[in-house]
Amino acid sequence: MSTIFSQIVEGEIPARIVYEDETTVAFLDANPLAPGHTLVIPRDEYERLNDVPDDVAAALYDTVHRLVPAVEESVDADATTVAFNNGKAAGQEVPHVHCHIVPRFEGDGGGPIHAIAGDRPDLGDDELDDIAADIESRS
Ligand code: AMP
Repeated sequence: MSTIFSQIVEGEIPARIVYEDETTVAFLDANPLAPGHTLVIPRDEYERLNDVPDDVAAALYDTVHRLVPAVEESVDADATTVAFNNGKAAGQEVPHVHCHIVPRFEGDGGGPIHAIAGDRPDLGDDELDDIAADIESRS
């Protein structure tokens, strides 16, 4: 069963495609959070960022890097929030990696990426040291 985004890649359902190359496709979000809200995806289906091979990840970033100024300029945005919902618990609904480029405007009423947090943890120095060491050892 292919994802709705694969169906867009295959041209089976319509989308407002704004950029495409061999590896990636970008199109307007069907339920935009702001004018110009754009999604960037790899053509091939990978559920999470962790699943994306290195060369595809590099191509994905190249397309994001290319699209951010294009999107900002096209809707005269003051800034953009650029983010992945990476996994169901983070709010990912479509299991096909996609980067959201959401134009932001002074006084638009939105929040920073920090607004995603629920209860913030109260971590001591030892816990922070352990977490940092653990991440470092896996990097
Ligand atoms: P996420 O919650 O990160 O998985 O976001 C999925 C995004 O895909 C949402 O912002 C939807 O509005 C968007 N979306 C779902 N179906 C389509 C579609 N057919 N064309 C464009 N965007 C879509």
